[in-house]
Amino acid sequence: MDGLDPQLARALSAATTTRDMSVAAGCLGRLPAVLRGVAPAGRYVIVADPNTWSAAGAQTAEFVASAGLALADPIVLDETPRVRPTAETAHAVAARLGEHKALPIAVGSGVINDLVKHAAERAGTAYVCVPTAASMDGYAASGAALREGGFKRTLAGAAPVAIVADLDVIATAPAIMGAWGYGDLVGKLVAGADWMLADALGEEPLNKGPFAMVQDNLAGWLGNPAGVRRRDRAALAGLMRGLLMAGLAMQAHGNSRPASGSDHQFAHLWEMEDIAVDGQPVSHGACVGVGCLSMVAAYEWLMQQDLQAIDPVRLAARASSPATLDAEIEASFPLAFMAANARAEARAKAAPPPLVELRLKALKANWRDIAGALHRHLPQAETVRHWLDAAGGPSDAPAIGVSRDKHARDYGRARLIRRRFTGLDVLHDLGWLDRAVIELFGPGGFWFNEGRKT
Ligand SMILES: [Zn+2]
Repeated sequence: MDGLDPQLARALSAATTTRDMSVAAGCLGRLPAVLRGVAPAGRYVIVADPNTWSAAGAQTAEFVASAGLALADPIVLDETPRVRPTAETAHAVAARLGEHKALPIAVGSGVINDLVKHAAERAGTAYVCVPTAASMDGYAASGAALREGGFKRTLAGAAPVAIVADLDVIATAPAIMGAWGYGDLVGKLVAGADWMLADALGEEPLNKGPFAMVQDNLAGWLGNPAGVRRRDRAALAGLMRGLLMAGLAMQAHGNSRPASGSDHQFAHLWEMEDIAVDGQPVSHGACVGVGCLSMVAAYEWLMQQDLQAIDPVRLAARASSPATLDAEIEASFPLAFMAANARAEARAKAAPPPLVELRLKALKANWRDIAGALHRHLPQAETVRHWLDAAGGPSDAPAIGVSRDKHARDYGRARLIRRRFTGLDVLHDLGWLDRAVIELFGPGGFWFNEGRKT
């Protein structure tokens, strides 16, 4: 272990799969000792793409070989214009791991890491990760986000046994990749708020340990967005520690609740729709950053409303019936696979009127406490916008290829694609989701074009 703060060191010692982690300049030199310690194998193989091979792959091979460890020929994945995260590629990598009988070292960022995570699982081996960018939080998490037959799925894959995050390597990645990681991390603000609400309304109890792992130091990790953009090592170290901690929190909790809420629902929606700018797919972290800002603005709107005036009995009586829900899904998702997904997810969380009534009564009775806790937890939307701008990432939907009209519609659609209970469901229970959107996008609203500062 090297370069960990006490919280991260504690989280690591409690982690079930990941046993060694370093976040420090020059720590790649420790890799042979790490391999001997927590990933002993007869042979190793580096998996990279041409970019990450030059960024760190060759250097990694040198360290491993000069320490006298056996190394198979590297697997350098090469596709034009870039390697895609498909199950097919992961299967091909798994087959080569089997041939080599080697333990893989993933040298890369999101795509390489997810491909190797799933390939290692299929080949029945552990894996080690050498991140080349602070671009997302999946390094320390289990599960690989891959496309299978065109659909994005989370496929099986254990977390790596060791992560060696050398800041000298990470600081050479394009600055925009740090902005993506910053977007993925800033989303944890909303993930936390959603979980607090789900807990307060009896939907999903807050698991204090994993919640604290992500939330207690979040302000510090997010505190230097301009430094992330400048590729300042201290700022990247903070960002990387936060991203790794989010992965460990998911390991500890057993699912993504500690790190993913309605912010990620916007992102998943847009990723399923393959949004693109100039023909380039928009990165996960860029989507999460805009999704986070969308929800911080929605929470800000909610906190300005008078909850004492609501009538839970009357509102619950208007809760959507299964038929209305199906009609809403039909109208919201022209693509058949997305409609099918939404039907499964939204039906799983559809609440009968008595349950909606209970939730609304709890919300009304405890609103002062709930709103106070949300106020303390969430920064202002304008502040989050400044952070995203300072980090150099997108802070508005049109910048990621989502028109303003679509963005407005996507508040309702994002609610439907996942069974997780979030702030969007609270707005829906209240019957205020449409009104919130109209006001957020109307004159004086947070997303109102003319009112925008640039
Ligand atoms: Zn994410």
